[in-house]
Amino acid sequence: MKNKFDKIKRTSNKELDKIIGKPFKVLNDGFVRLIDYLGSDSAIVQAARVSYGSGTKKTTEDKGLIRYLLRHQHTSPFEMCEIKLHVRVPMDTWRQWIRHRMANVNEYSTRYSIAIDSALETNEDKWRLQAKINKQGSEGFLDRSEGKILTKEEIELHKHLKVVYNKRLELGVAREQARKDLPLSTYTEAYWKIDLHNLLHFLDLRLEKNAQYEIRKYAEIIGNEIVARWCPITWEAFCEYQLGGVTFSITEMKILKEIYLNNKKKVIQIAKEIGWINPEDAKVSRNIERLEFEEKLKMLGVEIKWK
Ligand SMILES: Cc1cc2nc3c(=O)[nH]c(=O)nc-3n(C[C@H](O)[C@H](O)[C@H](O)COP(=O)(O)OP(=O)(O)OC[C@H]3O[C@@H](n4cnc5c(N)ncnc54)[C@H](O)[C@@H]3O)c2cc1C
Repeated sequence: MKNKFDKIKRTSNKELDKIIGKPFKVLNDGFVRLIDYLGSDSAIVQAARVSYGSGTKKTTEDKGLIRYLLRHQHTSPFEMCEIKLHVRVPMDTWRQWIRHRMANVNEYSTRYSIAIDSALETNEDKWRLQAKINKQGSEGFLDRSEGKILTKEEIELHKHLKVVYNKRLELGVAREQARKDLPLSTYTEAYWKIDLHNLLHFLDLRLEKNAQYEIRKYAEIIGNEIVARWCPITWEAFCEYQLGGVTFSITEMKILKEIYLNNKKKVIQIAKEIGWINPEDAKVSRNIERLEFEEKLKMLGVEIKWK
């Protein structure tokens, strides 16, 4: 009788093995480095085939299967892959990072150890201005001459806070209290373990243009340097369907259809019905959903004049 259990080998990935332990620099003194990993593109396929049965084995190519799973949000096979990273991140960025609850974390303790003697510094031409529309975003930069003053003040402030912190430690103040006035720019370190499904969710949110610049830089390294080597087929599908793709609501599809039929009257009528245009004076109100739709149209090379 044929043994129903095939021999299997533990997954290893030569490209990924080459970068284990290698720090990828982020910002002025941050890094991301791979500590360990479990699984690969083939582990995703293997898990999916358990649920679909061997019937699909002959007909479905691995690549096609992964792309299908990702397109249709069959997410559990992606949870079969896990990754463990060592990261060094400014505390304000870490505060955003740690909101991603579906990960396992061990963070450097400034109760137990002296705080990491490093902080995020800002170059004189890198002070970002408050965005006008997106209340939690930034756009453009402060004039370099003014930025120069802010950078000088930042250096002095960091220096002073370091002196204050060290003085407290020298006088025997407990580390847990001495740290309380350290700036949010101080770097922290952590081990961060997450499965591929939740990592893709993290990357989706943190690679988005509205995510803060600093966390975006970390997401770029994790995506382009680590996930792209680890699960290249999944990464390609993720870039294709999630990162690069857009979705349209039922109403947006209705408007799109009328745009392509060149039926401007109907487009305006729908826009009025959903409140994008004031029905009385035909004024275009400030509406985030409408602005997002216009962005999507721009990608299609379609310009729309609502009036
Ligand atoms: C651009 C941007 C701006 C943001 N601004 C703010 C802000 O102003 N204030 C603020 O507080 N946060 C803010 N956040 C954080 C945001 O609200 C989320 O907390 C964060 O992005 C983590 O997302 P998540 O909960 O989907 O991820 P995870 O915590 O990693 O969870 C992954 C998924 O698991 C499921 N899940 C996890 N825990 C639970 C649970 N307890 N119950 C049910 N399902 C669960 C959900 O499906 C979730 O999507 C912002 C995030 C971004 C990207």
